[in-house]
Amino acid sequence: MDQRDTLEALQQQVVQRNPAEPEFHQAVAEVLDSLSPVIARHPEYKDAKLLERICEPERQIIFRVPWVDDSGTVQINRGFRVEFNSALGPYKGGLRFHPSVNLGVVKFLGFEQIFKNSLSGMPIGGGKGGSDFDPKGRSDNEIMRFCQSFMSELYRHIGEYTDVPAGDIGVGAREIGFLFGQYKRLTNRYESGVLTGKGLGWGGARVRKEATGYGAVYFVHEMLAARGDDLAGKEIVVSGSGNVAIYAIEKAQQMGGKVVACSDSGGFVYDPSGINVALLRQIKEEERGRISEYPDRRQNGADYVTDSSIWDVHCKVALPCATQNELTEKDAQTLIRNGVLAVAEGANMPCTPAAMKLFREAGTLFGPAKAANAGGVATSALEMQQNASRDSWSFGYSEQRLKDIMIEIHRSCFETAEEYGRPGDYVFGANTTGFCRVADAMLAFGVI
Ligand code: NDP
Repeated sequence: MDQRDTLEALQQQVVQRNPAEPEFHQAVAEVLDSLSPVIARHPEYKDAKLLERICEPERQIIFRVPWVDDSGTVQINRGFRVEFNSALGPYKGGLRFHPSVNLGVVKFLGFEQIFKNSLSGMPIGGGKGGSDFDPKGRSDNEIMRFCQSFMSELYRHIGEYTDVPAGDIGVGAREIGFLFGQYKRLTNRYESGVLTGKGLGWGGARVRKEATGYGAVYFVHEMLAARGDDLAGKEIVVSGSGNVAIYAIEKAQQMGGKVVACSDSGGFVYDPSGINVALLRQIKEEERGRISEYPDRRQNGADYVTDSSIWDVHCKVALPCATQNELTEKDAQTLIRNGVLAVAEGANMPCTPAAMKLFREAGTLFGPAKAANAGGVATSALEMQQNASRDSWSFGYSEQRLKDIMIEIHRSCFETAEEYGRPGDYVFGANTTGFCRVADAMLAFGVI
């Protein structure tokens, strides 16, 4: 069997062994698609069945999460933690609370996380978790009771040297607070390094909140710079209006770009004079409101649109920062027709495989999630570093560390792509670099 046949057989095996998990199949296919030149160059990976091993999580935990809502009714949700790969360090990856969460979604996210964390250059393995709990419309007390119940099972599986969860969709500083409080109570340990994304007053790190969005914009800046270009004066569209989107918008504007649209699951806002980040933060972060409120409060002719795609808005840079598979083949066609120069994935796997293919064929600069949004987890590793040394760094120093990490991620993807004769192919560069570091560590450990 040649490399391609081997990889195809493995893909089929993954589909058979993990039925009804399309997001996981998609994430595996995207990585395997890059790896035939790597396997050809490193037959030792094939002999040691490294690919087969990497596609199989080390551990998968599924548990019941019972809790009582404000009306006194018992509610039952399902909790997940997939501890995918610990070759490079403790499992590390966020928790997602959203009704769409199921085992396949958590496995796709955990699988991606292995390579992203490797690419970040930090000593962290890959994992992910979450629940099908929907925090929307729930009171603070309901969120607290849910988080306490979730942690009452999760605590026995995690630890600063074992598995270190963080936030993701639906899990921000409020939820991390409730989760950390319950962990501390159950274990009687103030183990700061067990969770990241903590509040600044109790072990959190400066720039963690901003890191994913800022990092994605640094990555775009590096891609453009490699072509002698920059963000100054460019129109930018950012989907989502959550943690990643808000700070991508802030940094893009600081770097001279003009962000003209952002969205939530109800629709998008088009603001031709540029999104007002302070107002957006007030609505989304402080009031936990909807972006449909933005135009009335902005009072400058901004529109709230529900009958077309945010990707119909003309832009030179597109940053999908909401959720998986939100940018389709049709959206990619529109963006390319409208002259998009660069696309970077702030969210995890936001572009469908067909959309990604179109961007790569059109020569659009394309920064895949593993590389472009790795700033978040990298800064989580910096939070662990500060916790381990009982230290707290300044905003300026932390941001400089993030920037250096993003420059280094860009450099390693760029150079790997060149080395294999695929110049400018950041998807190939990210998959190959991320994979080889994990594979080399696994080889060193023998068959475990
Ligand atoms: P948030 O919960 O803060 O925000 C999510 C945003 O995406 C909201 O605006 C939400 O709108 C929108 N959204 C969610 N689901 C859908 C959907 N099905 N269709 C359209 N819009 C949707 O999450 P984050 O900003 O933290 O995460 C966004 C993405 O970035 C995710 O893919 C996550 O995995 C990824 N990521 C996050 C990191 C982090 O540090 N937070 C790190 C690396 C990746 P609404 O309010 O209407 O639901």
